[in-house]
Amino acid sequence: MPVGPRIVLLGKPGSGKGTQAALLSERYDVEHLSTGDVFRAAIKHGTPIGEEVKVFMDTGELVPDEIVIRVVEQYFAEGGPMEDGFILDGFPRTLVQAEALERVLVSHPLDVVLDIDVPTEVVLDRIAGRRACVNCGATYHVHMPPTHLWVCDVCGGDVVQRDDDTEAAVERRLEVYERQTVPIIDFYKQLGRLVAVDGVGAGPEVHERLAAAVDAHFDPASR
Ligand code: ADP
Repeated sequence: MPVGPRIVLLGKPGSGKGTQAALLSERYDVEHLSTGDVFRAAIKHGTPIGEEVKVFMDTGELVPDEIVIRVVEQYFAEGGPMEDGFILDGFPRTLVQAEALERVLVSHPLDVVLDIDVPTEVVLDRIAGRRACVNCGATYHVHMPPTHLWVCDVCGGDVVQRDDDTEAAVERRLEVYERQTVPIIDFYKQLGRLVAVDGVGAGPEVHERLAAAVDAHFDPASR
């Protein structure tokens, strides 16, 4: 059974984490876990977790660590693919979460942490025009809409603006990113796992840069 890389994707809101995680998950045939997608699905289905996290998400605040860590611990406890490889997108986002992840993965350490680097002006522009499918999470842009307005090409769901893509929430998400998430870049630097990748450019171009970084840190023959 071939095994894949264990990857964490970091980057500002709007840096392309979700899009790039989907491309990498296809290329390396590994699962993609987005904590943001998990919470959006929980909200959509009106579950107790959804009710708990909605106010944090809509205002651009982080969901409390204990809730997020519980979700990720459960994912791995219920057969999340430690051996086969995975991509975590949007987790960890705080030092407490990064330390919890080290404990969960103690015998299956991460191969690489990719930091998708995009200037703030660019992410602001991307998020202002971003639209997403409420059903499957596929993302579009007002300049790159689905074939039929606004129906998802992938699954036929409604394509709308995310509740947390408003100007005020985006501003808050960027502040929170600087304060809470930037410190974990240093954490992974010290562990020798961090690779910063230029995230400006067309999707396929950025994908090739990310894949080159993965290939430099992951050798399937060594597992
Ligand atoms: P983005 O990176 O564009 O902000 P995400 O879908 O990753 O999009 O996250 C959206 C929101 O989901 C965050 O603003 C936060 O409220 C919540 N969230 C997702 N992942 C986490 C996490 N690891 N810790 C805390 N909150 C999270």
